[in-house]
Amino acid sequence: MTVQTNSPNKHGLKRYIEESIRKQIREDAGYGCVVCGTLFCDYEHIEPEFHNAEQHDPTKMTLLCESCHGKVTGKRKSKRRVWVAKADPYCKKNNVIREEVEPSALPIVQFGTNHFNDIEILLSLHGKPLAWLEPPTQKGEPFLVNAIFYDNKGKYVASLNRNQFTSVLGTHDVWGKGTRIEIRPQKGVVGLTLNIEGDKPVIIERISMNYLGNQLKVNKKGEFKFGGITFNQTQMISSHTAIHMGDIPHIPLRDSLGQWKTLTIAYNTAKYGHQVYTINGSKCGWVLGNCLINKDYRVVAIHQNGVTSTITGEFLGTLVEHQNGQFLLVHTSYEYDNYEPIWVSSLDKATKNIRADAFVDVTHRIFGMNTFRKKTDTPKSTETVQFPKQHSIASRTSSYHKTNDKISIGDRINIDFQGRIDDVAFDGGKAENFTIIVGEGRIIPGFDDGLLGKKTGDKFDIEIAFPDDYHANALKGKIAIFSILINKTERHAESELV
Ligand SMILES: [Zn+2]
Repeated sequence: MTVQTNSPNKHGLKRYIEESIRKQIREDAGYGCVVCGTLFCDYEHIEPEFHNAEQHDPTKMTLLCESCHGKVTGKRKSKRRVWVAKADPYCKKNNVIREEVEPSALPIVQFGTNHFNDIEILLSLHGKPLAWLEPPTQKGEPFLVNAIFYDNKGKYVASLNRNQFTSVLGTHDVWGKGTRIEIRPQKGVVGLTLNIEGDKPVIIERISMNYLGNQLKVNKKGEFKFGGITFNQTQMISSHTAIHMGDIPHIPLRDSLGQWKTLTIAYNTAKYGHQVYTINGSKCGWVLGNCLINKDYRVVAIHQNGVTSTITGEFLGTLVEHQNGQFLLVHTSYEYDNYEPIWVSSLDKATKNIRADAFVDVTHRIFGMNTFRKKTDTPKSTETVQFPKQHSIASRTSSYHKTNDKISIGDRINIDFQGRIDDVAFDGGKAENFTIIVGEGRIIPGFDDGLLGKKTGDKFDIEIAFPDDYHANALKGKIAIFSILINKTERHAESELV
């Protein structure tokens, strides 16, 4: 590698490049390596090379990462390819700039001078987890940091997605230097400064962001400010959620004739609505027409053209119909198209390998983390939604009651289970207080059958062969023994009338 010195070249040109020229080069390159999109880059003279250059001419310079620069100086990549990349930069083509980070193996993240230690969700605004930690798949590996960053006007700018930093290409300036990533929405305005030193906690040194009207800031002194509170040099230790602010956005249900009364909505959801469940079988709300309704009978999302969005217009996922007209609200991947990561509950993670699908549950975004918690907040919005006059024909009640009978199809049961392959427990094969409706087939084929005829309190093993085309590679075609305990059996009122 070339040793960079400050001594001028034969034409008296110094290494130092004026900021206005650097900014021009960054803008032209889309803020990352023109070849591969990596954020940490150097300003390179393509032709003539620095030692022959008479000036720093942005039209003859570009951004290259260390690896791509090495390929060019080693002549494994031609100058011609660099010119081609400069004309059509990676970041502009793909609308993203990337960088892998390798933080501490301990579950710590800092907001300025404030330490968050062993906390799952660091920050949640309006029901949306915006910063959280996930344990690594192997002990000793870096903890997986997730964070979603907006600018001070509420526009999404960047995210850390399981230690992959991604910034979308926008009007903001972004660059990497030393151990820091900086984002500036405008000249002189700090949007975000991240310190990503290896084997150290990720430090959000500066931030100025806004999500749905909530302002959040880490200032020069390292003070963390939000919602009128200032944190300085605090330690937050071991909890599920550290900071939770703002209601989940919701509005009353209206049609062309006006706002619906709660009783009318309750009647209509019971008669025409479809229940929405979490992926693990907890009831959380209803679909009524194109509206998703929470337990307070408020509209929390709109479903249109196969897409479900929050009432503030943020894309959530897709409603998937399961048996008996029940719905799940899911996304097909752990991230959205803009690389924004999606928080996944530990129960979903625990059962991801034995579920018949590979969906990611997004119901927490509109129905809350605790789907059975009674909300007491008062409505603030007066917006209206158009409620189309289309109703489903299906009519159901939703009452289950406890039974000590033998388990049969349609029963809702609560179980603990532990799966083993060759006597070894496997990832995702264990859960406690897991709810399933027998016969729905949300678990691996054969699992539901093994429960039929058992009763509350029964403890037993079932043997199951994972299908050869199973979605989890490690389990394809394997035989597993599940030890099961039935905690509770409930039967649907309707089933008894038959
Ligand atoms: Zn590169």
